Amino acid sequence: MKTERLTAASDTLAEAAAYIQQQEVVAFPTETVYGLGADATSEAAVAKIFEAKGRPADNPLIVHVHEPGQIKYYTETIPVMAQQLIDQFMPGPFTIILKSNGKVAPTVSAGLDTVAIRVPQHPVAQALIQTANLPLAAPSANVSGKPSPTTADHVYQDLCGRIPCILDGGATGVGLESTVVDATGEVPVILRPGGITKQAIEAVIGEVKLTKSLAAEAQPKSPGMKYNHYEPEAPLYLIEGESAFFQQQIIHFQQAGKKVGVMATTPLMTKLTADEAFTMGEQDNLKEVAANLYTGLRYFNHKTVDVILSECFPAQGMGAAIMNRLDKAATDRIQHI
Ligand code: AMP
Ligand code: MG
Repeated sequence: MKTERLTAASDTLAEAAAYIQQQEVVAFPTETVYGLGADATSEAAVAKIFEAKGRPADNPLIVHVHEPGQIKYYTETIPVMAQQLIDQFMPGPFTIILKSNGKVAPTVSAGLDTVAIRVPQHPVAQALIQTANLPLAAPSANVSGKPSPTTADHVYQDLCGRIPCILDGGATGVGLESTVVDATGEVPVILRPGGITKQAIEAVIGEVKLTKSLAAEAQPKSPGMKYNHYEPEAPLYLIEGESAFFQQQIIHFQQAGKKVGVMATTPLMTKLTADEAFTMGEQDNLKEVAANLYTGLRYFNHKTVDVILSECFPAQGMGAAIMNRLDKAATDRIQHI
């Protein structure tokens, strides 16, 4: 299949929307990462998303609508607390899980009786949804298991020949996927940390829970507990410790005959010497680190490194989302005891 790359503009939006209406998939920019969208009401169209990504069928998709008022068309009654979250955080990098009314294809929900819905803030995403006049089921536009795409180039590297159309709207803003909150129970539960922090949510509705798997992941975990997610081509190790300890680990791998790539922020990076380096930004600017994280994980794919060592960040606020992705991407953590 030929993959068309379109620069987002009014005429190309119409072309991309036509693909959607013909039950095809289109990659498009959002403020979090690039999505791979298809008509959420069509089982045939949704099947093409799973096929292009190689995504397991039991992993549900988020439905994207262009404004919060659309949510009620795909859900049962919206609880008061859920409505408060919708009013506060939508449009934005925030996904809410509600009881489905069965209007989206069952494969979108992977057989669950719930549906995950988001209202993206990105003008190109909003325009595409509005022009197609359909809700878009859209996971990240990467091959399943790889780091999510934050540029049209990333999408092209992964999905060239597997999808008909990429709408290029430049680099995404947040750079990490949306915060996912399950609002079907009495107390909302964060299933995935993201651009909207736990603190920001609690400021609106009071205490929320973290899903059990997230609470467990706050601890260093054994390699056996790993998800296959966000993985760079070389094994990734997370280094917890001072710059001298970090440098020792670089030397340790080099002495074992390995070429070492380092992902770190300034000023730490200026104190390290490795074979390859990717600077994620300033240490005290976690927004910048989040925006650069997946580019970093993909950067070493084209370089000859045998291992990647990354800095760790305090797991609060945006740091919680960053560490969640790094933990899933990593083979292990190496701690200075
Ligand atoms: P992505 O594929 O990167 O867009 O991520 C979508 C995320 O939302 C995954 O972690 C899914 O497991 C989660 N998700 C989507 N729909 C549901 C749902 N109905 N219930 C629970 N999690 C969901
Ligand atoms: Mg994804």
